[in-house]
Amino acid sequence: MVNDDISAALGGSAIRPGDPDWDAARRFHSGIGDPALIVRASSVEDVRSAVALAAREGLEIMVRGGGHSAWGTLPGGATIDIAALDDVTLDGTRVRVGGGARWGDVARLLSSRGLGLSSGDTASVGVGGLTLGGGIGLMVRAWGLACDQLVGAQVVTAAGDVVEVDDVAQPELMWALRGGGGNFGVVTRFDFEAHPLTAVVAGELGIESDARPVLRAMRDLLPHAPRELTLTYMDVPPMDPSAPAGASIAVVWAGDDENAARAAIAPLLATPGVVPRDLGLRAYPDILLDGPEFDPDAPMPGFVGGNTLLPRLDDDAIERLAAFREANAASVLLLRSLGGAYGDVPPDVSAFPAREATWFAMAGAFDVPGLLDAAGRARALDDWQAIEARGAGVYGNFTTSTDQSWVERMYAPPTLARLAEVKRTWDPGNVFSRNHNVRPA
Ligand SMILES: Cc1cc2nc3c(=O)[nH]c(=O)nc-3n(C[C@H](O)[C@H](O)[C@H](O)COP(=O)(O)OP(=O)(O)OC[C@H]3O[C@@H](n4cnc5c(N)ncnc54)[C@H](O)[C@@H]3O)c2cc1C
Repeated sequence: MVNDDISAALGGSAIRPGDPDWDAARRFHSGIGDPALIVRASSVEDVRSAVALAAREGLEIMVRGGGHSAWGTLPGGATIDIAALDDVTLDGTRVRVGGGARWGDVARLLSSRGLGLSSGDTASVGVGGLTLGGGIGLMVRAWGLACDQLVGAQVVTAAGDVVEVDDVAQPELMWALRGGGGNFGVVTRFDFEAHPLTAVVAGELGIESDARPVLRAMRDLLPHAPRELTLTYMDVPPMDPSAPAGASIAVVWAGDDENAARAAIAPLLATPGVVPRDLGLRAYPDILLDGPEFDPDAPMPGFVGGNTLLPRLDDDAIERLAAFREANAASVLLLRSLGGAYGDVPPDVSAFPAREATWFAMAGAFDVPGLLDAAGRARALDDWQAIEARGAGVYGNFTTSTDQSWVERMYAPPTLARLAEVKRTWDPGNVFSRNHNVRPA
């Protein structure tokens, strides 16, 4: 495309600092972005023009889907905002989802046709970032990660080509899209295979006692529990607006058999201090949370800690995680059960790391002046590193930066080498670099 054609094709959708829409366009879930250029693309052709414009101006590209990543606010580069590509259509059990759609929209359409997918836990999170990074959801043990349910995609490449991808047409690219992040182009359409689902059994178990016996009970019951059951443990301080304060377990059973769900969690219900709250039948979209909007007057503080995919949640890991939470008054602890369908996927089907993991763990102390001093920060970091050392990989979607060191902690060397080969094929100039960047081999 020649230069004048690019500008004509994009019309007013290319926005620069000083333009009237600039401040609205650069607002992310995690803060205010500072790119050199934003293009709001509302068609595949717009995406192609935006990629060409970025190339003409020598700008690296950031793709904005649902806008929930912590790194969308990186300075410089061109942001291609594809929020308007949000069509969701159904053909039997195959759901085709625009690259900028959000999970709430997908859940509502699927539920109206008796279908479901395992996505994340929040309706406003983007299908794009969550799926390309993996996607650990509330029904992950039943159906695997969001990316495990991905069967095809349409991608606009760095060269401006529109490529249809599936396991037959482009097996290497398909493998990389399942967990390799936004490194390979702009995904303008995701195709998922949905599952029959009339309703779910869901609810919360409050925890009014020491976390340790509860975590042990949760760990011990899952290897024998049907894979319909996924459990998520959360302990959140009052200052975190993302969820109600206190410790609880979110129970989700992928199906409408209330008796089976209650039987599966019976050992947990028998654990002292576990108080069932509102366990019952729900429509699938109703279990997704409404995340809080970004508030520029009260930005979320950073935190000291991290996340890891744990092969074993042994007693020592439980002790360290519980002690981390207790040592830091303003800290968060999250544990998500894996195994089941998550563990069925062989490494040559997806780039996502650590299929041997049985738990995902995240812990962080909020870095707020007055709450965490230099000694506390150093202690929290040491404590976290001892926990992460037991893990088999970091989950990129729950990190707060795109520093290269994260990429090396996310993927084992053979996976990273294979991703680098795919990158060399589809983005040899590394235009799509403003992410957890896989450098071309
Ligand atoms: C409130 C909240 C709840 C969350 N819950 C969960 C959860 O339950 N499970 C979980 O696994 N994660 C969860 N996450 C993490 C989430 O997966 C990441 O923040 C993810 O990056 C969000 O995707 P997005 O499209 O909204 O973000 P964006 O910032 O728009 O995108 C993130 C990155 O993904 C890439 N990208 C996005 N769309 C495309 C596309 N169409 N084509 C090419 N590249 C693209 C780009 O590299 C971009 O930098 C949560 C995050 C928040 C803030």
